[in-house]
Amino acid sequence: MKRQKDAGATGEGNDLPCSVGLGHGRRVDMVRAPGWLRYAWLRHGFSTRAGGVSTIYDSGASVGSLNLGWTQQDDPANVAENRRRFMAAIAGVPTQTATASCSKPSAPCSLSPVPCLVTLRQFHSGTVHHVEAEDRAQPARLQTADGRAVLRGDGMMTGVPGVFLGIQTADCVPVLVADVRRRAVAAFHAGWRGTLARIVERGIGTMRLRYGSRPQDLVAIVGPSIGPCCYAVGEEVRHEFESQFAYARELFSEVYDSDPVREKYPLLFLTARAPGHSNLGPQIHLNLWEANRRQLLDAGIPARRITVIGECAACAGVGAASGRKYFSHRAESGFTGRMMAVIGVAAAPAKAVKPTTPERWRLGGPCAVR
Ligand SMILES: [Zn+2]
Repeated sequence: MKRQKDAGATGEGNDLPCSVGLGHGRRVDMVRAPGWLRYAWLRHGFSTRAGGVSTIYDSGASVGSLNLGWTQQDDPANVAENRRRFMAAIAGVPTQTATASCSKPSAPCSLSPVPCLVTLRQFHSGTVHHVEAEDRAQPARLQTADGRAVLRGDGMMTGVPGVFLGIQTADCVPVLVADVRRRAVAAFHAGWRGTLARIVERGIGTMRLRYGSRPQDLVAIVGPSIGPCCYAVGEEVRHEFESQFAYARELFSEVYDSDPVREKYPLLFLTARAPGHSNLGPQIHLNLWEANRRQLLDAGIPARRITVIGECAACAGVGAASGRKYFSHRAESGFTGRMMAVIGVAAAPAKAVKPTTPERWRLGGPCAVR
C-alpha cells in the first residue's frame, strides 16, 4: 500500500488518504481513509481514473481509464469490466480471480467473491433509500438485469452484509458514513442542490431512526470532488445558501482573475463593457467540502471522526506526468466519465469473527441470494 500525503486531509488519528492498487498493469487506484482500515468488516473506496479499459475520454493515452458510469459515449462492455475491476479492488480480492460481477445481480454469482453493488438514478435531490435484506432477495428491486439502477434518489443506507452502495460523481461531493457500532453504512451524492436540501444531515437523521445510530459512533468521509479552488457558481446559488444556512458566508469566497495582462494593463479592460456587464468582478467560489462537513457536525458527528480527502476533481493531477487524477464534468466540459464512491459491510464470514480478526471471504457468500 502506498500512502499518499495530502495536506488537505483532516480527521481522526491523522487520517491521511491513501491510494490502493490491485491487479496487473495499470492499477485500479482508489483513495481511502487509512483510519477506516481498522474496521475489518467495513469496505470503502473512492475511484480515480486509473485502472480501467475505457478509451473514449483519454484520446491518445496508452492506457484506458476507469469510467464507472453508463455514459452515452462509452461502450457498456468497458463499463462492466471497469466495475468488475473496481469492485474486486474494494472487496480486496485479486482482480484476475474476480470472474463475475454484480453488474447482473439477478444472475447467480456464487463463485465470485465480488460483492453486490447497488447504485441510484441520481437527480440532485434529498431522497434517501434504505436497502434491506428483502431487497437483496429480489434484486430486480434494485437493478435491471444489465446492471442499471432502478431506485431514484441521491442517498442510500444499509446494514445488510454483502450489499455495497455506490454513488457516482464527476464533480459532485460523495459522502460516506459508517456506524462502527451498529455496522450500518450510508452513501450520499451531494452537489450544490443536494447539499442545499441537507441530504447528508437529514440522511444521518434517517440512520438514527432506522438503525438506532448514535452520532458518536459514526465516522464520515467527504470524498474527492470539485474543490473551492475551482467551483465557481452564480450569485443565485449564494442567495439560496444564505437563505438556508446561518454559516453560509463561510462557504463562499471571491476569486479574482489573475490574468497577468489584465493586472498590467487594467485600463484596457475597463472600457469595453456597459455598466452591469463587466466580467472583471470576482468569481464566487463555493466550498462544498466545508458545507458537507458542517452538516456532518450539525448531525452530531465529532470533528475528529470526519475525514475530508481534500482533492479537487477538476485540478488534481493536472500538469503532472500521470495526468488528471479524476473525472471532472466542469473541467472537461461535460465530456467525461464517472467516478464511484463505494461503501459496504463485508459479507458475513462463515463464523462470526471479532472485528479485529482478519476476515475471510466466504465463497458463494456475498452475491448469493439468500
Ligand atoms: Zn481545483
